[in-house]
Amino acid sequence: MNIISFDIEEWFIEKAFNGGRAEKYAEFDAYLDKILNLLKTSEEKATFFCVGKMAEEFPEVIRRIAAEGHEIGCHSNIHTWLNKMTQEQMRQDTREAVDSIEQCIGQKVLSYRAPAFSIGENNKWALEILAENGIERDSSIFPASRDFGGFPDFGCNEPALVTYNGIKMKEFPISITKIMGKDFAYCGGGYFRFFPLWFVKKEMRKAPFSICYFHIGDLLPDSNGVMSREEYEKYFKEKGTLINRYKRHIKSNLGKKGAWGKLEKLVAHTDFINLDMADKAIDWTACTQITL
Ligand SMILES: [Zn+2]
Repeated sequence: MNIISFDIEEWFIEKAFNGGRAEKYAEFDAYLDKILNLLKTSEEKATFFCVGKMAEEFPEVIRRIAAEGHEIGCHSNIHTWLNKMTQEQMRQDTREAVDSIEQCIGQKVLSYRAPAFSIGENNKWALEILAENGIERDSSIFPASRDFGGFPDFGCNEPALVTYNGIKMKEFPISITKIMGKDFAYCGGGYFRFFPLWFVKKEMRKAPFSICYFHIGDLLPDSNGVMSREEYEKYFKEKGTLINRYKRHIKSNLGKKGAWGKLEKLVAHTDFINLDMADKAIDWTACTQITL
């Protein structure tokens, strides 16, 4: 089973951090067109996790995606990492996001992905807040160590039914493989840009389950400049030292030039489904059960 997903926030981030440059909006629109055309040609449906503010400030973007029959999920309200929020802040963020998206598309939102997969050991309570807001499927757990946390003790690399404090959540953790004894993601974001396509495809064939994830920013050919200290601290909410800023710059620009072509080939050669379709195909009584 191969799932394809996109995280949609670029228009909102551009407006919030750069004031909203027309040429940037046009570039995002053009790449969204390319993604939607690619999925249409291959007759595949994806899950698009959208930030709530997109539904409020750029509703036409969300409606265009929904009109093509793709699933619209939630990607928080303002793209702040959940592990940088208190429970009360996250509760409000989630409620606002889900309300905005549901009003925009006129449908229930059932799937969620946290910015930067920021649900881990220290904020498992986030799952309870998602359930309170009607979310049934989550894809926020990165079951290995990474910047911004990860959840290395989650212990499962496939869809699992998670029980936490009385609630149940259908979890779709990010796909991980072992390279020289270490855990690595391989079919999304910077990992997809870094690894050659033959390697990504080989790992996907080996695994009974994979979930690919992309931001439009992963697919744009041009590199971003190095963030100023001020921009970095506003966006990442951590110290904007030169080392932090360069590390982030390299990670977010590695392999960008070839990324779109790789995605085209991957989609052409893979049968993808979205989270909604995967949910219906999985026997949740027979899958891994995890109590956190
Ligand atoms: Zn995101």
